[in-house]
Amino acid sequence: MEITCPRCATTTDVDFYGPCASCRDELRATMGADGVAAAEAVEYEPKMNVTPNAVALKDD
Ligand SMILES: [Zn+2]
Repeated sequence: MEITCPRCATTTDVDFYGPCASCRDELRATMGADGVAAAEAVEYEPKMNVTPNAVALKDD
């Protein structure tokens, strides 16, 4: 599909939404694989903390 790169605003053809190929190369060069993963995680949703009480309340 065709998208506008969220990083450099270049119109590019990609398989999924995210930075264009040149931006991905740049991110990989500057931040390593973690930077690319972070850039591609557009809909990242942090997990809720599990409360220790949930374990403590378990009654045998
Ligand atoms: Zn780009």
